[in-house]
Amino acid sequence: MTPASTANARYAARDLAHVWHPCTQMKDHEGQVPMIPIRSGQGVWLEDFDGRRYLDAVSSWWVNLFGHANPRINAAVRAQLERLEHVILAGFTHEAVIDLSEELVAVAPGGLTRCFYADNGSAAVEVAVKMSFHYWRNRGRTDKRRFVTLANSYHGETLGALAVGNVELYKSVYRPLLMDVITVPSPDCFLCEPGESWADHSRRLFASLEQALARHAREVAAVIVEPLVQCAGGMRMYDPVYLEMLRAACDRHEVHLIADEIAVGFGRTGTMFACEQAGIRPDMLCLSKGLTGGYLPLSVVMTTEPIYAAFYDEYTRLNAFLHSHSYTGNALACAAARATLGIFREDRVIERNRALAAHLAARVRELADHPHIADVRQCGMIAAVELARDKASRTPYPWQERRGLAVYRHGLERGALLRPIGDVIYFMPPYVITPGEIDFMVEVAREGIDRATSA
Ligand code: PMP
Repeated sequence: MTPASTANARYAARDLAHVWHPCTQMKDHEGQVPMIPIRSGQGVWLEDFDGRRYLDAVSSWWVNLFGHANPRINAAVRAQLERLEHVILAGFTHEAVIDLSEELVAVAPGGLTRCFYADNGSAAVEVAVKMSFHYWRNRGRTDKRRFVTLANSYHGETLGALAVGNVELYKSVYRPLLMDVITVPSPDCFLCEPGESWADHSRRLFASLEQALARHAREVAAVIVEPLVQCAGGMRMYDPVYLEMLRAACDRHEVHLIADEIAVGFGRTGTMFACEQAGIRPDMLCLSKGLTGGYLPLSVVMTTEPIYAAFYDEYTRLNAFLHSHSYTGNALACAAARATLGIFREDRVIERNRALAAHLAARVRELADHPHIADVRQCGMIAAVELARDKASRTPYPWQERRGLAVYRHGLERGALLRPIGDVIYFMPPYVITPGEIDFMVEVAREGIDRATSA
C-alpha cells in the first residue's frame, strides 16, 4: 500500500470520498486495488502524483490512438478553442463538423454518406437501433421491431445498448428493464473444433444466424455485430467470411446490418475499418472511441442515402428522426477528430502499423507455451491471451479467484496499465508504441501471469 503521506495517497483519499468510479466494486479500493491518480500523460506513458510511470497498454479503454498529449491533436483543439467551443447542432452548424463529415465519408466504406452525431458509443448504438426501427416504420413495416445479436457481444451500457448486447456480467441484473432480442451463437474462434480453421468455424456458425433470419425476418429490423473482434466479451475473434455471409443474408431477408466499430474502428484490426476485410458496407456504422484520438467524447452513426431518404419528408408527416443530445457534434471534439484523421493520412498509419502488429503478434505468440495459457490470438493492433487452470481441457479458473486481477496488480507495480477482462490478458496499445515498449509490456504481462498462476 502507498504510505498515507504521499501525494498519490492524498489524492486517492479525496477521490474515494466522493467519486463513484465506473465498472468498479468500490470496496476493492479499501485494500486489494490501489486507486492511481494520474498527474500527466505523454505518448504511451501515464505518470502518477508520486512520479511513477505506467505504460497505457489498454489505450485508456481503447480510445487513445496517437498517445497522450499528442502535439498535433493538442494544437488542433487549442486552435478550435480560440474560435468556437460548442454550438447547438440543430439549426446551426460549424466548420469542424462539416469538414469532419466530408472526411469521414471519404474514408468509410463507400455509400455511407450521412453522418448522425452523438457523444459516446452507447448513444451511437441507441441512435442506430432507433434509426433502424424508425426507418422500417416510415416505410410502413411496423412489424419490424426486433433485433438480432450475437452471444457474447457488447454494445454499451445504456438500456437499449445493453439489451442488444450479451455480456451477462453487465446485463443480467437489468434484464427486467430490457427489450427482448434474438440471440444467436457467436462465431468466436476460441470455440473452434480441434483442427477447424477460423474460416470454417465462422462459416459453420453462420447457419444459426441464417436460421434466425429465415424464421424471424418479417419482424426483425436489424442484426447488430462487432465486426471481427468481440472486445468487451474477452477479445474473442472471428473470420471476415462471417461478415460477408451476414451482409448477403441481410440483403436477402431485408434486414439492416448495424456494424458497431466503436472499439475496432480506426485501424485496430489492421484496416481502417474491420468491415473492409470482408469487403462489405453496413447499413449503419457506429464509431466513437478512437474517433477523437482518445481526447473528447464524440460518436457518429454513418448511414446510406436510402435510409436518410426514409426520414426526409414534409414536417407535418412527422417522419423526422428527432433524436438529440446536447453535446452532439461538439466543435472541440470534431477538431480533435479531424486532427486524428489527418495523422492517419499524413503518417500512413495503417501501413506503418503492419510492422508494429507483426511485432506484437510475435511477442505474444511466445506466451503460447505457458502452462496456464489456453489461447493466444491477435488481430491487427489487438492481442490477447486466455488463462486456464488446465491448458489441455481449457478449464477456466473459478472466476472468484480473480487471477486476472493479480496480473493487473503486478502490472501496476512494474509500470504497465494492463486491465484484464476476467482471465483474458490483452494488449491494445496506442499506435505510437515502440517495439521496445511492446517487449516491455508483454514481459510484464508474462511475469504477472507467472505470479497469478503459480499458486
Ligand atoms: N460498443 C462497443 C463495441 C464498445 O466496445 C463500447 C465501449 N467499450 C461501446 C459500444 C460503448 O461505448 P461507450 O463506452 O462510449 O458508451
